[in-house]
Amino acid sequence: VTPPLSWRRAGAPPRSRAVFVDRDGVVTRWLHGFVLSEAEIVFNDEVIRALGAIDRERYALVVASNQSCVGRGLLSAERLRTIMDRVVDGMRARGAELDAWYCCIHAPGDGCPCRKPAPGLLTAARDELGLDLAASYFIGDQPSDMEAARRAGAHGLPVRADDAAGVRARLASLSSRSR
Ligand SMILES: [Mg+2]
Ligand SMILES: [Zn+2]
Repeated sequence: VTPPLSWRRAGAPPRSRAVFVDRDGVVTRWLHGFVLSEAEIVFNDEVIRALGAIDRERYALVVASNQSCVGRGLLSAERLRTIMDRVVDGMRARGAELDAWYCCIHAPGDGCPCRKPAPGLLTAARDELGLDLAASYFIGDQPSDMEAARRAGAHGLPVRADDAAGVRARLASLSSRSR
C-alpha cells in the first residue's frame, strides 16, 4: 500500500512534541459524510482559536485524518490536497499555524498500517518530524482516534464532536501536565 498522503510546512521549526488533532469533528464540522469539496468545509472557529493558544515553542500542531473517500474512489488525491490546503489556510486565518498533516487515503479493506485505529499516521509523523510520541497528545472525537494514540504510545485526549469547550478543557489539562 502507498504511504499516507502528507504535507509539511516549509520552515516549520523542529519540535520534539506534537499536539495531533483529528480533522472532521475537531478542526472542521462533523458532517456525517465525506467532505468532497472545499465548499463543504465548515471550520470550528473556537476549536481552532484554542489550538492557536497552545505553547508553540513546545508543541508542533499536526492533523491526523482518515480520508477513505480517496481509497473508495470518491475523491482524487489531488483534490484532497486542495481541500487540505484550504484547511491549512483556514486554520492560519483563525490563528493556528499547522506544521504538518497526515491523511490515510486507503479504504477499510486495504490492510494499510495508517487507517485509525492503526497508529501509522502518528508513527509516520514521528519518523519524519522527529517527535517523541510519549510526550505528544492526540485530540479526537472518535474511539479510533484514542486507540491510534494508545497504540502509538501517545496520550489520547477525547472530545465530543465539534465541542470547543471540551477542546479547551483538554488543552488546559495538557499545560498543567507538561509543567
Ligand atoms: Mg473525527
Ligand atoms: Zn492508510
